[in-house]
Amino acid sequence: MRLVLVSNRLPVNLQGKPTIGGLATGLASFLEDWKIQGRPYVWIGWPGQNVPEKDEAEIEAKLWNGSQTIPVFLKTKTFDLYYEGFCNRTIWPLFHYFPSYTDYSNDTFEAYKEVNRVFAKKIIQNHKQGDWIWIHDYHLFLVPQMIREAIPDAKISFFLHIPFPTFEIYRLLPKQIRNSILEGVLGSDLIGFHTQLYSQYFLRSILRCLGLENQRGIVSYKERNIKVGSFPMGIDYEKFRKQAESKECIKKVNKIKNNKQNLKIIISVDRLDYSKGVLQRLNAFDEFIRNNPEWKEKCQLLLIVVPSRTNVPSYQAMKQSIDEKVGNINGKYGNLNWTPILYQYKGLSFEDLVPLYKSADAILITPFRDGMNLVAKEYVACQTDGKGVLILSEMAGAASELVESIPINPNDIEETAIAIKQALEMPEEEKISRNLLMQNRIQSYNVNVWANDIRKETDKIVGSQIQGQTEKLNDVSKDIVSLLEGKESYLFLDYDGTLREFEIQPEKAVPNETILFLLNELCKIPFLHTCIISGRDKNFLEEHFSKLPVTLVAEHGSWIRRQEDSQWEKQQISLIRWKEDILKRLKVYQTRIPGSFIEEKEFSLVWHYRNADPDIGANAAKEILDEISQISSNQNFLVQPGKKIIEVREIGVGKGKAALSVLGSHLNSQIIAIGDDVTDEDLFSSLPSQSITIKVGSEDTHAKYRIKDTKEVLHFLSELIHKNKR
Ligand code: UDP
Repeated sequence: MRLVLVSNRLPVNLQGKPTIGGLATGLASFLEDWKIQGRPYVWIGWPGQNVPEKDEAEIEAKLWNGSQTIPVFLKTKTFDLYYEGFCNRTIWPLFHYFPSYTDYSNDTFEAYKEVNRVFAKKIIQNHKQGDWIWIHDYHLFLVPQMIREAIPDAKISFFLHIPFPTFEIYRLLPKQIRNSILEGVLGSDLIGFHTQLYSQYFLRSILRCLGLENQRGIVSYKERNIKVGSFPMGIDYEKFRKQAESKECIKKVNKIKNNKQNLKIIISVDRLDYSKGVLQRLNAFDEFIRNNPEWKEKCQLLLIVVPSRTNVPSYQAMKQSIDEKVGNINGKYGNLNWTPILYQYKGLSFEDLVPLYKSADAILITPFRDGMNLVAKEYVACQTDGKGVLILSEMAGAASELVESIPINPNDIEETAIAIKQALEMPEEEKISRNLLMQNRIQSYNVNVWANDIRKETDKIVGSQIQGQTEKLNDVSKDIVSLLEGKESYLFLDYDGTLREFEIQPEKAVPNETILFLLNELCKIPFLHTCIISGRDKNFLEEHFSKLPVTLVAEHGSWIRRQEDSQWEKQQISLIRWKEDILKRLKVYQTRIPGSFIEEKEFSLVWHYRNADPDIGANAAKEILDEISQISSNQNFLVQPGKKIIEVREIGVGKGKAALSVLGSHLNSQIIAIGDDVTDEDLFSSLPSQSITIKVGSEDTHAKYRIKDTKEVLHFLSELIHKNKR
């Protein structure tokens, strides 16, 4: 299997030289292993600068030959609108909970779409059967669906490296944009996030925006199942560990310590960004010195700020505020012998960063939001003597794994100041035991395990897709329809979701002219017996279909009205003792959940929530299921979830049993059954084995064939009529 990595930036520059930091550095050991196993990989991305059109072919060949990378060429203006605009002024601030910094503009979104299209085109052009396409981050949300449209069976994973916000934040995006992003990323087979919470927020957003529910993280969308899950990105633990134990590093650590005798060192390392909380950190350090004068001249903060987005005015202003605050603290407390803060506005190489991590008594990490924060993990990995203390914002993704750190809320200056004191005064054994627990965790879920986990889970969902994929009816409809030729045949048709699409109010989902015409035509086929087998009550079925020579089955099999008869037969004698109690319980939910309502039938009760707030409705449905299942043992009813409904009905009633009663002794005839809901599964599995069972939609099924939607069902029926008309 070839791995096709896709990210906004290529890991090399135009000369083919590796760029420092970023995803490529993080993934290096995984890619090394991948290569050792004899598997190829390629990387597709923007090469970091504009290339004149006449030079594109030459650069492309050079990069391919030198580094197996494939450049995506972008026009400067489009790139700026996409990158500086939509990526960095819309998605980045909003997803980090800075709505006041967020711009909403159609122009930048148009450029974003355009760039995503260029990426998708490049991936499609270079695609080989069996590739695993792994797309990274928020720059490329729309690419998965664009690939899916061109290559339906492509294997695609998507990983988001930044937080996914709660729905209340996400919904601030204009409707068209927020839906496009979700639909775009749902083209993947697997969608990964750093934390459980981000996955939950994403699942909630697709429920609220697109009405898509999930079964333990599996979403059915456009006839495919998509896995949504959390995969906290790890680091190359052994690499940091080895470096921290190397002679070169120990020499550097000794040098740092000699320079700072009698000083406890606190470090902080991050890119210049408003999400990182650098000013709040400085305020907390200020507060710490003010409240704890005994620590004056005994500690020092080494503040490393890596320049980023230096051409953006708000970043320049932020830099200026940091400069001023550092000057202010140093002026206020410092003297000729002591500078409270040493400040470097420049990144460090791996070889200089590791000794700094190792020699620091504490690290202060204070983002307001951070997808993961790898620095926290790297720092812990480098504590070979276990004596450094991690102070970590609870808003960093890493906080859910590094639970033995000292947690802080960056908005709480006082709490952070107390955390600094606690870190500097923490007993040695406590530091060691906290670090040990965190190190074990980081070591076992390292970057290799992380990437392999994503690969395995992607393979699993793709595998189950193929395995569970019943044949597509379109491909075989010719054979099926001609199968009937002249033989005695039975056609079982579910109604809602099969013949007729759903409406918010079920009473509005009445059969239209096409449905009635097709049913009428079906009835003209002399050897075909048509049966509408529905959850609807007998009044509804009688009102709409009694003029047709069809058999009607109401309330999921509780009643049968045979074609040749105008009377309804009760399928069982019921005592229905449970109904009153359940009705009382459902009424509580009906009152509590606006838009939900109860449908009362003779043998069943249905609580509908299609018209309720999707989130609240789905949660209440789970509660009802739970509550009623608990009291259902030894009682004569069963509770079953359906499409935006919860149905409670008499045990012993079912579409399967009713269909067998309709068939009577004609079990060897030609049988076709079409249905979309859970209750149709009972029908599919009860019918004789030669039956042609057809599921409408993409959920799990016992049916042999699959069809997309009601439109395709009607098309299938018209084919059936056409082929069998005399
Ligand atoms: N880093 C570096 N030199 C520096 C500061 C940071 O190489 O001077 C690296 C660091 O080792 C880490 C990455 O930059 O791997 C920062 O990742 P993180 O998730 O902490 O923050 P991001 O910048 O991605 O938000």
